[in-house]
Amino acid sequence: MTTAVVAIGGNAILKKGQPATRENQQRNLEETCRHIASIVEAGYNITLTHGNGPQVGDILIQNEVARNEVPPMPLDVCVAESQGLVGFMLQQALTEALRKACCDRIVPCVLTRVVVDEEDGAFREPSKPIGPYYGQVEAERLTNERGWHLHEDPSRGGWRRVVPSPRPITIVEAPAIGRLVRSGNDLVIAVGGGGIPVVWKEGRMEGVEAVVDKDLAAACLAKSLKDDLLVMLTDVEGAYVGYGTARERMLGTVTAEEAERHLNEGEFPPGSMGPKVEAAIDFVRSGGERAIITTPELLHTALSSKAGTQIVNR
Ligand code: ADP
Ligand code: MG
Repeated sequence: MTTAVVAIGGNAILKKGQPATRENQQRNLEETCRHIASIVEAGYNITLTHGNGPQVGDILIQNEVARNEVPPMPLDVCVAESQGLVGFMLQQALTEALRKACCDRIVPCVLTRVVVDEEDGAFREPSKPIGPYYGQVEAERLTNERGWHLHEDPSRGGWRRVVPSPRPITIVEAPAIGRLVRSGNDLVIAVGGGGIPVVWKEGRMEGVEAVVDKDLAAACLAKSLKDDLLVMLTDVEGAYVGYGTARERMLGTVTAEEAERHLNEGEFPPGSMGPKVEAAIDFVRSGGERAIITTPELLHTALSSKAGTQIVNR
């Protein structure tokens, strides 16, 4: 049986411009889960992971707006909350989709921590924008009172918090996730939003205010589970060279070496396609058979190599 980690992107949960209501998110997830259920029906043993950008952003806003009523929670706790929020909606959607397609399955969601290195350069240079936009006065207050780093975004006329995005080293709960997956009965949701970042400090794990890229974390999980495939579902058919230009061309099946060459030539930006291609290269070089970048709609076709971008070791 082929085993795979399937990472679903932000768009599978909330499309650009949609209000983040329960109904919108549930409906989008139901649609995505139909496609996922069809590959479970076809015999793939999968573990699901998901993004959390808009959801954790909204949790941060709720914390800020209510800060005089209830103490705001730090970012690691907010990431944990978002795993529960998305995880629950995903459980509901997936259980139903599986029941319709093939089978009654338990869909446990594992609250997941990911170990990062305190010495990771990302802690010296926070770069990942997160949460709401602030005016200058508010931005100064937050810098002084909370020690936050804020960057000005002139295009949006405001300031936004930036946080470190360190590389994932190990998934703390991976052995437990592995046992659930190998039981063959459960379809596990884990490592939501890239996982809750923790560092080792004086012999114990401590949560840190950072976010881990969900695609890199998905690769980390797929490596520890020794899965055959890593699938990243997003809102474009695959990875393109010359993206958005007249000469744009989607990559079909490429080696890690070729993908790396395009990555080094700047074809895949850091905040979006870059981490997917990086995750794919990392996975296949660590023994994975194949990494796929495509849309939920094309998932089934992509598994038979007839759609999407396929990254292979050689
Ligand atoms: P997700 O939430 O699925 O991780 P991202 O927004 O992070 O989605 O990444 C997908 C986006 O990457 C696409 O919507 C596309 O606009 C953008 N993108 C940037 N460069 C490329 C490229 N070279 N090929 C394909 N998509 C690209
Ligand atoms: Mg992304």
